[in-house]
Amino acid sequence: MARQPKKQRPEKHWHRGGCHCGAVAFEVRTADEIELVDCNCSICRKTGYLHLIVGDKDFRLVRGQDALAAYTFNTGAAKHLFCSVCGIKSFYIPRSHPDGYSINFRCLDASEFKSVVTTEFDGSHWEQNAGDLAALESN
Ligand SMILES: [Zn+2]
Repeated sequence: MARQPKKQRPEKHWHRGGCHCGAVAFEVRTADEIELVDCNCSICRKTGYLHLIVGDKDFRLVRGQDALAAYTFNTGAAKHLFCSVCGIKSFYIPRSHPDGYSINFRCLDASEFKSVVTTEFDGSHWEQNAGDLAALESN
């Protein structure tokens, strides 16, 4: 029997990030080639949020559980987490991936990636376009 070629999964590395004051710190594991989502929904537009969506195995909170406050609106499915000291939303639990996390790419500490591709998402019409996000779960 011919041997099946092993499917190559991209190697992943951990990156550090957090809020502005340092109360909240996390680590996120990604491939060196990443895809970001620039969403124009009511909250992302106002925060300038740039999404890096990962599964729960690729995220760990280093510190700040007690500093995090949650904000919800509309369906309440997304848990918008922000630092109660400095107000920065460095990651949260998105409606599109309730078992994962969306990291704010702008809140990563200096990190290097081989490629960073940003895709626009029309989140102002979330219901019609949510399917586009399904493919983004960390590869
Ligand atoms: Zn903070």
